[in-house]
Amino acid sequence: MYTVAQLIGGVWGAGGQGGELVVRDPADGSPVSTVPVATADEVGKAVEAARGVADGWAATAPAERAAALHRAADAVEAVAEELAAAVTAEMGKPLADARGGVEAGIGTLRQYAELAPVRGGRTLLGGGHTIDFMTPQPRGVVAAITPWNDPVAISCGLLGAALVTGNVVLHKPSERAPATGWLLARALDGALPAGVLSLLTGGGEVGAALAASDVDVVAHVGSSATGRAVAAAAARSGAKALLENGGSDPLVVDADVDPVWAAGQAALGAFANAGQICVAVERIYAHRDVAEDFADALVGRAEALRVGAGRDPATELGPLVDRRHRDHVHGQVTAAVAEGARLRTGGTLPDSPGAFYPATVVTDCRHEMALVRQETFGPVAPVVVVDSFSEALRCAADSPYGLAATVLTGSMSHAQRACRELPVGTVKVNAVFGGAPGGAAHPRRGSGQGYGYGPELLDEFTATKVVHIEAPGGGHW
Ligand code: NAD
Repeated sequence: MYTVAQLIGGVWGAGGQGGELVVRDPADGSPVSTVPVATADEVGKAVEAARGVADGWAATAPAERAAALHRAADAVEAVAEELAAAVTAEMGKPLADARGGVEAGIGTLRQYAELAPVRGGRTLLGGGHTIDFMTPQPRGVVAAITPWNDPVAISCGLLGAALVTGNVVLHKPSERAPATGWLLARALDGALPAGVLSLLTGGGEVGAALAASDVDVVAHVGSSATGRAVAAAAARSGAKALLENGGSDPLVVDADVDPVWAAGQAALGAFANAGQICVAVERIYAHRDVAEDFADALVGRAEALRVGAGRDPATELGPLVDRRHRDHVHGQVTAAVAEGARLRTGGTLPDSPGAFYPATVVTDCRHEMALVRQETFGPVAPVVVVDSFSEALRCAADSPYGLAATVLTGSMSHAQRACRELPVGTVKVNAVFGGAPGGAAHPRRGSGQGYGYGPELLDEFTATKVVHIEAPGGGHW
């Protein structure tokens, strides 16, 4: 059992007068963590304390900040196994996936430690006796509000990029993975000057208080509804909002592909991490010529997955994060079936403890169904049959989201059309996952704004200043 503590003004165990939350293991319902809840007053005091050390950290040499981040990465590496176990205990994903997320996080910290000190601005071509240049500067105080579905990888990205560029950070991890956030903060804090990192815990109300506070940047990774609330709060305060939010990623299965191979891609995209990935396959547009064989093979894939607790090394499909989320997933599936969709496998609530939900394939779906249009975030593959590649692209593009999309096709011209026409941040051709390291894209529409990853995230956390210098009186120094 983890007993989470907050970190405010460099002091562990501060605050928590807002009550206590208990997180339960989604595999069996047993309690895992107790978490203090910050009050709005504590949030305000934490922001004030952070601002008090912001100038000192901003003035620290970039190479020194980078060295601190390398030490932080070492510290995270030293507790990697403990972190992965906490992820699995709190949100249920298979331990091997949790380890992968921690490794990715450590890698990101190290990348930012290497990249940040070699960044520079541009020099400008001014008059003969003038000096003009552009230089990036820290923005100041950053609120980082993170989700539970890959908590270490996501938090390391935001925290690493914000800290190494000279900002102080207040981290509010998800109330569904707070011990993970606490273990991570303990590791990072030990490598940083006191007060540069703060940890505030609790639910959405703590995130809302933080987003509305006197910070310079609010970086939120989470649902689109929350992202809109964060954007509204930032608009009122004048803070910059950086948003990486939900998606409903389409998978297009063209007429010329092997339907069994396509089903393997669809299963990977829809069922990995029980579908709880922002870029999971959420809706499938399959060409009529291959749709039936594709659906049959996808059902086979779904039924072959080994279901169990994340800590069991044999497990391929763990539970959903909790029963509240399972109700949301099941609600979308049952509504689609009531509207005429056909349940091919899964779609029933198991009579077992925890929050398990079976890998589910639903065919005869229509593009208008909520299961197709909205984010499900569960192990569900809804299949819509289309009569042409153009129809598939039209449906894929018609979405309130714009995160990513995958097209499976043997046609180069179809692949080119997909790259050109889909209004999303990431287009993948013939592979649902596996982009090159360092890639970064702008999410569109309800999926967010700004770069959430890659070297460009360093730019998001700095403000560029342009400087023009002349000698006094137009003469010489
Ligand atoms: P969420 O938005 O409910 O919660 C995320 C964080 O926001 C939590 O810390 C939560 O306490 C906080 N929060 C909740 N209400 C708030 C408010 N009104 N103001 C400020 N903060 C508030 O999201 P979630 O359920 O934790 O995560 C799942 C979602 O995250 C999915 O929609 C998924 O697609 C998305 N996600 C996106 C990316 C990406 O890179 N685009 C990555 C991972 C997850």
